[in-house]
Amino acid sequence: MKLKPAINKPSEELALILGPCSAESPDQLEEVVTSTLSMKPDLIRAGVWKPRTRPGHFQGIGAPALDWMANLSRKYGCRFCTEVATAEHVELCLKSGITDFWIGARTTVNPFYVQDIADAIKGQNVRVMIKNPINPDLFLWLGAIERIYQSGIEHISAIHRGFSFYGNSVYRNIPRWQIPIEIKRRYPDLQLLADVSHISGRPEHLLEIAQIALDLNFNGFMAEIHPDPSNALSDADQQVTASFFEEQVLRKLVYRHEKSTDELYNNKIAQIREHIDHIDHELVRLLGERMRLAESIGKEKKSALISIFQPDRWNEIIGRLRHKANENGLSEEFIFSLIEAIHIESIQHQSREMNK
Ligand code: PEP
Ligand code: MN
Repeated sequence: MKLKPAINKPSEELALILGPCSAESPDQLEEVVTSTLSMKPDLIRAGVWKPRTRPGHFQGIGAPALDWMANLSRKYGCRFCTEVATAEHVELCLKSGITDFWIGARTTVNPFYVQDIADAIKGQNVRVMIKNPINPDLFLWLGAIERIYQSGIEHISAIHRGFSFYGNSVYRNIPRWQIPIEIKRRYPDLQLLADVSHISGRPEHLLEIAQIALDLNFNGFMAEIHPDPSNALSDADQQVTASFFEEQVLRKLVYRHEKSTDELYNNKIAQIREHIDHIDHELVRLLGERMRLAESIGKEKKSALISIFQPDRWNEIIGRLRHKANENGLSEEFIFSLIEAIHIESIQHQSREMNK
């Protein structure tokens, strides 16, 4: 794939998509446009068709909001983008002159929907931003990008909005940064944007998420801006005013470089990295050793006709490591996903041994 960015920006500048979760009224949209002018957003976002997880919530104004956007585009010379989930949405947008879209997380999960959208935009001069699917599946995300690309669209960007999960987290959607990092490793030309609002879920996390995205070389942000966040018809908890976003997020970001020419710094880093690499090798060696032990247990359990999984033992391990994690300054969330991954691998080793 030879991808071009959906938002044309010099690489040292951040691409910015700002606007409300949902278009609610012409006045609301106009207020967003005027209040964000100083941040010079590349696109104003506003959802028109809202895929709500559960019924009974505001599902968007629908097609009439496209006319509001078209009018404001004429008045202020700004560009709007919106979410499309069906071929009909695409057609209605094109009719209203909206040629920048995003595909939402609940649509990216379904290759049939993505293909319908891809077919509907074939041959059109449009730019498409593709949010990650709600589940942490790199290939569904890549597949959606490939489907759109195969329909002849070159201007494609990826929007990272975090992943759904069951359980507790300080964020609305777990970032799992390794997935967007992997997508960028495979496609270095892909413009990568962070939807800081849908990851954070609350204004107080916006800066921390935006800073991480910046430090991971993301190319820009999507953020939900509303003139009166607490009375927003959708996603009220996470929207902020334009001035909040400008003063409390954009202005507080620290810009850093990818590389340095300072020799002293480079030597120090090289030394620390050597130490880190050594620890990584040790970790892998120890994990291998742990799996050999799991295999020995598998052998014993096989001859004693004992099942693989003992919930009490698992609870005991988690409890102990949680404690250890705290002692070592590691988050419980991290140690839990780490030990879970180790446990799954361990079960596989035991099971292979038992079913030989
Ligand atoms: C949105 O952008 O308002 C939205 C519904 O996003 P997502 O598809 O990421 O949930
Ligand atoms: Mn939203």
